[in-house]
Amino acid sequence: MKMNLENKKTIRIMEVCGTHTQAISKSGLRYILPDYVKLLSGPGCPVCVTHEAYIDGAINLLSHDNVILATFGDMLKVKGAFSSLSEKKSKDNVITVYSPEDAVTLARKRPEKKVVFLAVGFETTAPIIAATIKDVYENGPENLFFLTALKRMDPILRFILSDDRNKIDGLICPGHVASVLGGDAFRFVTEEFQIPAVICGFEAENVKKGVYNLLDQIEGRSSVSFINLYRGCVSKSGNKLAKAFMGEIFQREDGYWRGIGKVSNSALVLKGKYKRLDAKNEFNISEETKVRPSPCQCSEIILGLKAPYECKQFGIYCTPENPMGPCMISSEGACSAHYKYGRVSFDK
Ligand code: SF4
Repeated sequence: MKMNLENKKTIRIMEVCGTHTQAISKSGLRYILPDYVKLLSGPGCPVCVTHEAYIDGAINLLSHDNVILATFGDMLKVKGAFSSLSEKKSKDNVITVYSPEDAVTLARKRPEKKVVFLAVGFETTAPIIAATIKDVYENGPENLFFLTALKRMDPILRFILSDDRNKIDGLICPGHVASVLGGDAFRFVTEEFQIPAVICGFEAENVKKGVYNLLDQIEGRSSVSFINLYRGCVSKSGNKLAKAFMGEIFQREDGYWRGIGKVSNSALVLKGKYKRLDAKNEFNISEETKVRPSPCQCSEIILGLKAPYECKQFGIYCTPENPMGPCMISSEGACSAHYKYGRVSFDK
């Protein structure tokens, strides 16, 4: 039975992974928790955090007759300053792919073109992209380039947890990234910010266990700690091979996040000899952008300052059929998950 305890301080728990967001929404977990527990979505949807400048850079590439863009489908509707790839593409200059290997296959099939793979994601997808870049550098094809917007998770989490405005009481760490980097990569959440953190799996039962574990800690029934409940997939030190690939191919750089701006050391970019495959160099792509004012509040949602139902556009002017922002476009986006599985007019 749902408890409604008055005068309780609101407890704010953030989940980071888009897959956790989906699991929470789909299971209805939000609605069986006491009213004073608020579950907030974080920055784990790669499409949602991709900066307008990146989309504009990709759109500008379409002015080259000999370029084909290879992209994950979620990126098509995301707007840059003014338009999206789906609005600007012509018949065969933007191709949807499901993996970096698909881009390799495409480049081999179309040797007369330069194929640019739009490489977005976190440390979850970065290793497979790194392995592909290494293979392409060594074995071709010569006509494949990578336009990267790869992000690192720990700088943005530090950015969010340092922000006095959002007051996160507990964190469900990104399980997929933790499986690559290792559970120890997220101990800082508890050690530096003195809040409880759990790593948990993606089934509804796993997430529920994680939330109740956090509540026990936050409400003083157990001591504040960092707990890995997903030991079957997340070791202490992570996947050594995946980390080695990332270390060889990428270096850290300041990264730009949609609606947030520059976050120090939050991007992974090609380094050393691999820069030869960087589309930014090949096509001299500028990072500059015009950011058009928008009523979309995705950035506040990503930072944990608001929930989707607190956006005035949600479910009225902004729906999956007519999305105003990336959080409604990507299936991993918080607004999309709330719309699909939540109760539009309710307050949770
Ligand atoms: S509901 Fe739409 S407009 Fe509001 S934050 Fe989400 S994506 Fe943006």
